[in-house]
Amino acid sequence: MTEEPRARPILRLKIPPAPRPVAPQPPAREPAVAPAPKVIWRCKPCGAEVVLPDTAEEGDIVRCRNCNANLGKAVHFLSDPPETSRLRARRGS
Ligand SMILES: [Zn+2]
Repeated sequence: MTEEPRARPILRLKIPPAPRPVAPQPPAREPAVAPAPKVIWRCKPCGAEVVLPDTAEEGDIVRCRNCNANLGKAVHFLSDPPETSRLRARRGS
């Protein structure tokens, strides 16, 4: 009965391969469609920044993360132009 040769241990490099350096983006590479700038809203009661989640459904109630005020329905935020008269938030930057 012959002894089976043991599998060789996996050798590890002492120095891990260096991560690829991040190449600077060439300026000529413009995206065909620029992503829409995120609209920043401000809570009227407290002035905190309100970012509408991308996953907001039209019927969702948007609440202020700071004071939990009901700022209105997402549909009124998302309509173009936004129905600011129905919202307790104003556009900010
Ligand atoms: Zn608030």
